Amino acid sequence: MSNIEHLVVIGTGLIGGSVALALRRAGCVERITGVGRSAANLEEAVRLGIIDDFDHDIKKAVADADMVLIAVPVAACDSVFQSLASSLSAGAIVTDAGSTKQSVMISAAKYLKDVSRFVPAHPIAGTEHSGSAAAFAELFEDRMCILTPNEKTEAKALAKVTALWQAVGSHVEVMSAREHDDVLASVSHLPHLAAFAIVNAVGKNDAAFRFAAGGFRDFTRIASSSPEMWRDIALCNSLAIVDKIDALQAELKALRDALNDSDGDVLLEKFKAAKQARDSWLDEYGEKL
Ligand code: NAP
Repeated sequence: MSNIEHLVVIGTGLIGGSVALALRRAGCVERITGVGRSAANLEEAVRLGIIDDFDHDIKKAVADADMVLIAVPVAACDSVFQSLASSLSAGAIVTDAGSTKQSVMISAAKYLKDVSRFVPAHPIAGTEHSGSAAAFAELFEDRMCILTPNEKTEAKALAKVTALWQAVGSHVEVMSAREHDDVLASVSHLPHLAAFAIVNAVGKNDAAFRFAAGGFRDFTRIASSSPEMWRDIALCNSLAIVDKIDALQAELKALRDALNDSDGDVLLEKFKAAKQARDSWLDEYGEKL
């Protein structure tokens, strides 16, 4: 990709830090400035070679940036767009990494004078860890990154942001923000809420935890994700998620009814269908996970 002279990463955590490290490794960025709330996280990011310098003032930081990456929890995007809108230079391109896309695009449209150079993105890669210390350059290798441009998005900005996500190792897919939010509600947001619910249902002081093994650990890994980040995702995609919770409740009710009726046939049918669907998904996409 063509060189980025000054990249500003607003939110130098797992995702923002990993993009910075991967772009540095690809040799396509001259200077990286971090922006965040806590000095400790930003100082750590400098120490780890993720950013060259940092600023707590978004307006000042973005003034001479040619590329801005917003990688804060999604509900914070509104105030980030509000802060940076008046300071962006004319040619600056903005992208983000938010896990919900319609909400972020609404925030951008509310504050940016010109949304044509904002290209929304969601890298489908991550871990349950947070902060700059969790960042690593390989995070996006061979992973998908979904871009959700709309009719206002400038072709040149789309090409540049596509090149950025490809430079960090991602395969870029384009879809509408609405489709993105619906699909991700199914395969990411619902499983996270279910994991939080399962752990809470077992109860944090319950003696049962002592006997939990690998299956419980695998199923609940994502319940260790950042509560702040997931509160924001849940609120910013609530309609789609409620829909998926209804579908899960219907599935659970069918299992509950089968148990009440001692109906082994229904249980077997449900378990077989789930195993088959998961096995075929792994056969097709497993190597890329
Ligand atoms: P993270 O590790 O917690 O990093 C978030 C960063 O944002 C932190 O450096 C935090 O630093 C900063 N921050 C938080 N609130 C802020 C605010 N109001 N203003 C400025 N900075 C703020 O989270 P992450 O996992 O990198 O997630 C970042 C974004 O990527 C989120 O939108 C998330 O939905 C998305 N995403 C996450 C994953 C994943 O698996 N983790 C995957 C794909 C996309 P301070 O606390 O010091 O401000």
